[in-house]
Amino acid sequence: MRLMFIDPPAMKPRSTTVVIMLVSLWLASLGNIALWQSFFAVPEISGWQGMLFGCAFAFVIACLIAALLSLFAWKVTLKLAITLLLLLAAFSTYYMLMYGIVVNTSMVLNVFQTDYREARDQISWRLAVTVFLIAVLPSIWIWRQPFVHTSLLRQILRNSSIFVVSIVMAVGTLQLVFQDFASLMKSRTEMRFQINPLNSLYGVARLTVFPSKVDRGPLLAIGTDAQISTYNNSLNTHPPLLVFVVGETARSQNFSLNGYDRTTNPLLQKEAVASFTNVKSCGTSTAESLPCMFSHLGRSAFNDRENEVENMLDVLYRAGYAVLWIDNQSGCKEQCARIPSVSTSELKIPAHCSGGECRDTVMLERITDEIAKLPAERRAKGTVVVLHQMGSHGPAYFKRTPTEFKTFKPECTDSSLSQCDRSEIVNAYDNTIVFTDYFLSRVISWLKAQEKTSTPAMLYVSDHGESLGEKNMYLHGLPYSVAPPEQTTVPMITWLSPGFEKLSRVSTKCLQNHRDKALSHDNLFHSVLGLMAVKTSVYQRELDFFAACEGR
Ligand SMILES: [Zn+2]
Repeated sequence: MRLMFIDPPAMKPRSTTVVIMLVSLWLASLGNIALWQSFFAVPEISGWQGMLFGCAFAFVIACLIAALLSLFAWKVTLKLAITLLLLLAAFSTYYMLMYGIVVNTSMVLNVFQTDYREARDQISWRLAVTVFLIAVLPSIWIWRQPFVHTSLLRQILRNSSIFVVSIVMAVGTLQLVFQDFASLMKSRTEMRFQINPLNSLYGVARLTVFPSKVDRGPLLAIGTDAQISTYNNSLNTHPPLLVFVVGETARSQNFSLNGYDRTTNPLLQKEAVASFTNVKSCGTSTAESLPCMFSHLGRSAFNDRENEVENMLDVLYRAGYAVLWIDNQSGCKEQCARIPSVSTSELKIPAHCSGGECRDTVMLERITDEIAKLPAERRAKGTVVVLHQMGSHGPAYFKRTPTEFKTFKPECTDSSLSQCDRSEIVNAYDNTIVFTDYFLSRVISWLKAQEKTSTPAMLYVSDHGESLGEKNMYLHGLPYSVAPPEQTTVPMITWLSPGFEKLSRVSTKCLQNHRDKALSHDNLFHSVLGLMAVKTSVYQRELDFFAACEGR
């Protein structure tokens, strides 16, 4: 018997064109499960016609991906480009399927600005499986393929023909189903942000290659004439002290102060607060809302602004107040760039901090000392402190509350919300509101303790809301035009000490009577300046919601 040594069969070199076609079909079908799930959920799409329309839609997507890949179909770049597209598609698919989100520019911006703690909350084995199936497996196959060697001239010819043929086929197919396609895109705008991986590429391109909307002109100063108008001097009161709490992911409807049928505000309901029920946010994510909340421009003008513009805190500072930002979250998004700021999220105070994050109450642990560091001559005029909460940040709501605040049980303790019963998700979320209720009542207690030296007040507003399974949507960040009210209706609560009511001549009684008035983040800039008696030409009294209650 003779021993035979057989070489493993040499792999047949693949034509790049075939690989591009296969990858494009893979991405258009499996890489777009989230899109097809929403597509076939549209009631008007059914039967054979719906199926044909779906196939045509998928074919158009495949052609566009092929055209895109043809630009990178060079020996050194093709495998890298394919791997990158597969990864983008896999990550987006996971988030779209798990949380019902879509991938638009602001979502991409969120990804860039996410801090590691939030990212850590979201890592799960389901993410690993999705990425493995959609991206890693096909990538392994791709990297093992030898490509056919061709001359540069032939490569140029081949790439340009793939590009032209793909575009012609995409346009041709689109023409055949144009009526259906146009009406679908009009009625289901969010679907265009579900097309993988074109959605994430478009988002990245909007932020980097075409940054006209992001990279704005130099910073414009506003309120250069700002002054503190003479408060009623005869009152001879202590200087005002306003704590402005910026909430996180709190939605209005889950506050019992606003009519929620669960007691989520057991402590605040004992305080003399005014809780506004009809307040709209400026955006549906922190990155979008936060800068807009402090701007004088209002939502639409803010989105169209050509320059970066100074904010409410700059004007308060210029008027002469001591201003401070305390951050227990992912930073102030440039809002505290020109004023003193501290971060408490990395502190290691055992009573408040564990597992690399601190409870919002840690900010009260620091506030007295941090205020003491501000210039005395400014503090003599008055102080404004922003407290930026971790609040109800998801999806790991259960991580935001200490055991003794877990009023509603059982809680969802899985970061992949879709693995929990909806009631468990709502329980975990409501517990974060109970904790925010405690935090705000602690802020008020702290303010009351300052009455010997200051005239205190508190304003609390959340940055955006949250979806908790309504219409199968979770979390936040949908494009504003299609975002459900759960993501855009935010709580706003004011507390004025008796001294502050006298000083500002604004009565809480009157505010309570106006609690259902339609308001939005657009009102904040002018209302805070009004409350703090700042005189400046940028102030618009008609947007100041305290003004209606002045002297009443
Ligand atoms: Zn937020």
